Amino acid sequence: WGTTSLSVVVVGASGDLAKKKIFPALFALFYEGLLPAEFHIFGFARSKMTDAEFRDVIASTLSCRISARDKCQEKQEDFLRRCFYSPGQYDKADSFQELNRRMSEVETASGKQRANRMFFLSIPPNVFIAAAGGAADFCSTRTGWTRVIVEKPFGRDSASSAALGRGLAAHLREEQIYRIDHYLGKELIENLTVLRFSNLVFEPLWSRQYIRNVQIVFSENFGTEGRGGYFDQYGIIRDVIQNHLLQILALFAMEPPVSLAAEDIRNEKVKVLRSMRTVQLEDTVLGQYRSRHHGGRTLPGYLDDATVPPGSLTPTFAASAMFINNARWDGVPFLLKAGKALHTRRAEIRVQFRHVPGNLYKHKFGPDLDSATNELVIRIQPKEAIYLKVNNKVPGLGLRLDTTRLDLQYQSAFSQKELPDAYERLLLDVVNGDKRLFIRYDELEAAWDLFTPLLHEIESRKVAPELYPYGSRGPVGAHYLAAKYGVRWGDLANEDPEE
Ligand code: NAP
Repeated sequence: WGTTSLSVVVVGASGDLAKKKIFPALFALFYEGLLPAEFHIFGFARSKMTDAEFRDVIASTLSCRISARDKCQEKQEDFLRRCFYSPGQYDKADSFQELNRRMSEVETASGKQRANRMFFLSIPPNVFIAAAGGAADFCSTRTGWTRVIVEKPFGRDSASSAALGRGLAAHLREEQIYRIDHYLGKELIENLTVLRFSNLVFEPLWSRQYIRNVQIVFSENFGTEGRGGYFDQYGIIRDVIQNHLLQILALFAMEPPVSLAAEDIRNEKVKVLRSMRTVQLEDTVLGQYRSRHHGGRTLPGYLDDATVPPGSLTPTFAASAMFINNARWDGVPFLLKAGKALHTRRAEIRVQFRHVPGNLYKHKFGPDLDSATNELVIRIQPKEAIYLKVNNKVPGLGLRLDTTRLDLQYQSAFSQKELPDAYERLLLDVVNGDKRLFIRYDELEAAWDLFTPLLHEIESRKVAPELYPYGSRGPVGAHYLAAKYGVRWGDLANEDPEE
């Protein structure tokens, strides 16, 4: 870094994602000393703001409340001094030329010979390509690298995603594009490969021979709450399942990569996706939450959200059974489930193992042997944890068996450390040019190929979602879907004392 400065441009700097995630993550990296000494932020959006007003906006998003941040105030002031704002239109060459002029001015003043530039396109999809073009064509650095981070949605289906890809490719090389899926930046997802490939006890069991089914579950305990306009155009399959959950599945199920190099890992992920059967409508359950009276108040249904078009059929819940047609996973159901306004907020992977052959203690479990199989739970959020449900003798005289946990709770095991936010990790990876956790164009294509026929069928047949009450466990249909493949949803057990 000695001779190089870094400029981070947040395109759409006035927006929600910028304030909620990008500025706090950049500050955390700066605070930890992980960014070059000559580091600057440039905000770009249509909103009119001066540098001072922009710094006020950023200041309101930062917090020194995070534990043990020594000299935080001082660092914040240093950070804010490095922030500049350049207003402009996303489709206007002169706006980007002006941005380029300001960046060059600040970079030159820093006295470094080389300047690297990183753009975060935090804007709605309708201005994506124009802004990528403006950034690449008028603001590329001549002395270092230029990288561009793009956020979902990466299109609505195979065709629109390909069109977006062509639009980006007209201005940028693939190696410059970082498609972010913030789930891949979560601590437990990064740990997934460590768990699997650095412990003898897991990888040998990681196949159809020992695993009965895998469940990847995402639930939110709140609805769209007035922000349904964006969501309604996409629905839960596009918003969560086709990207976040499918990415987790690919990482979970991939063959051991040749190395930890980005291309080696992404080669294995894309092989999993390309070995999968397209998702079938008969293997999918759709739901939409409805209002519910609870504790003297009414929890609003999806259609009560004023930003949602009346009569919308957009699913706020979906569950699908998916299969990987390869030697490792043939016949193992992967159940993916995501929903809003459910009874709990959580994301986890549940691996249910097969029965113990010739189990000597079979008679102790009665007819319900399923409840006595091992289950590995990887809780991604909240309260990150990994636990393995094992059968154990209840201490005392006599022989009573019960299921208990080998339990790794992150909060108690790693109490000294705040877990970094996913955006921190991912932004740092972009700075370091590490593409392991970003989505390659062919992965994206394979992911869309799996879901596009289903999405088109749902839309053309106007499939009505099953209604479920706000705060419930979702539509009953999800249980029938699981039962069709001999599966019982693991997340329905009340395993946490606070629930
Ligand atoms: P946002 O607040 O709606 O938009 C970001 C900025 O874009 C706005 O401040 C606005 O800035 C500009 N903008 C908004 N609507 C526009 C329009 N119709 N035409 C041109 N410019 C417009 O979006 P966001 O929530 O920050 O999200 C940014 C991107 O990240 C989106 O692609 C979103 O899908 C994705 N994303 C967001 C989240 C999240 O948690 N918010 C999570 C995952 C992905 P000016 O008016 O000042 O130009």
